[in-house]
Amino acid sequence: MASAKATLTLFIVVAFLMAGCGSSTEPATKETKAPAAKRPTTKPDLPTAAEQTAAIAKFSKLGRPIYCGGKAKPWVALTFDDGPGPYTERVLALLNRRHIRRTFFINGKNVATYRDALRHEARSRSAVGNHTWSHKLLTSLDAEEQKREIISSQRAIARVTGRPVNLFRPPYGAHDKYTDRIVRRSGAVTILWDIDSEDALGANYKEISRHVKHGFRPGSIILLHENRGQTLRALKYTILPALKKSKVIPVTVPEMLAGNPPSTKQLRRGRDGCAR
Ligand SMILES: [Zn+2]
Repeated sequence: MASAKATLTLFIVVAFLMAGCGSSTEPATKETKAPAAKRPTTKPDLPTAAEQTAAIAKFSKLGRPIYCGGKAKPWVALTFDDGPGPYTERVLALLNRRHIRRTFFINGKNVATYRDALRHEARSRSAVGNHTWSHKLLTSLDAEEQKREIISSQRAIARVTGRPVNLFRPPYGAHDKYTDRIVRRSGAVTILWDIDSEDALGANYKEISRHVKHGFRPGSIILLHENRGQTLRALKYTILPALKKSKVIPVTVPEMLAGNPPSTKQLRRGRDGCAR
């Protein structure tokens, strides 16, 4: 009995530690009582690697930025910008526990410092894209400077992951005809978003949760940032439980492009094509 009691006490302590940093402001949800995750019951019929590569090539040639996927399937893409960094392993641990597929947009300048974190990000359930070398506003640069920002980062990421980097997200979503040409010629496709969590604008976890929870729809591409504690908290306590409750399946961006692509009409309308 004594040993069973000790085991129970240990379990409670571990569960408490896993639930966060013990702040009293964290909402008491079921999540804190049941941290152990189960495999999702609904397994999406995901496109093959070849289908994903073909879809990226097709959209790269079209040269239009992607704001969201199609409306046919209850899929969303969670995307994390500005890494890798000090929070990467925490984000990965949280997502892996729940078998959540995701996409990371990487700044080349972080790669040398967080090489292992990037390697971990590139493992299963992930897609990795390019977010320029140093996060400059590309539209304030000339074509040559833009090319350096984009291509140097693309190469640095590929050297670590060992795979071609064919997704691109411009910092602040800002791109012009030079950006579009460089991205297209590099074989990549520009990925923007239809749902902004506003975590980079200083939103707290409640606001981040609200923006995502009330905004997403089938096909949404959701903008998040991996090096923010408030984002992690929102994901853990609200966003991931809300997606699960709605039976929405998180996929990577290439999976979205191949398995639930935006229609031509949606593409032409830009972000407006993503409305419900
Ligand atoms: Zn960014």
